[in-house]
Amino acid sequence: MHTRHTMILLLGLALLLTAGAALAAQASPKAQTDCPVHGKPVQDQFYTDFEGYRIYFCQDTCAETFNKKPKQYLDTMLKSGVTAAKTPAPQSICPPCGMKVDPKSSSAVEAGGYRFLICSDYCGAKIKADPAKYLAKLKEKGQEPARVAPVPAKPVAVAGEAKAAPASKCGGCGKCPSKSSCLGDEKSGEKK
Ligand SMILES: [Zn+2]
Ligand SMILES: [Zn+2]
Repeated sequence: MHTRHTMILLLGLALLLTAGAALAAQASPKAQTDCPVHGKPVQDQFYTDFEGYRIYFCQDTCAETFNKKPKQYLDTMLKSGVTAAKTPAPQSICPPCGMKVDPKSSSAVEAGGYRFLICSDYCGAKIKADPAKYLAKLKEKGQEPARVAPVPAKPVAVAGEAKAAPASKCGGCGKCPSKSSCLGDEKSGEKK
């Protein structure tokens, strides 16, 4: 009687283990490649952090949709076998030299859309010269500096245009130096 019970128990256990192994194999880690909102390929710069996970999106508006029911989106993603990336830890070392930094006492520089904590101005200058390099260095260690509002790239281009525009375009014929001295508004009619 006793041995028989043990046999059945062991058999059951073996079955359970096999089933478990099969399940584990099925849910092998798969990095996130698709937007949980649209199913399109994700881009590194669009993401949100939720419950210790970093969820990537295909465009900047997806986070808004995601945040309406984040748990549902995350659960669906995890159930499909995707291993969501972990949210990086806050920065605790100075990226160029590796010295410890403290958000309360260390100074910081803003570069590349991030606020890097630094040990010294010397390291700060290095980061400003190549923020991407030091951001990568921190990410390697599972850390990330705080984000700052991205500096819009537009103003530079607009300033360049503003300089060039008044000299070449009069707004009328497009040839004379200023609108007030423009000889005619008809662009095509003038040449005849
Ligand atoms: Zn999307
Ligand atoms: Zn340093």
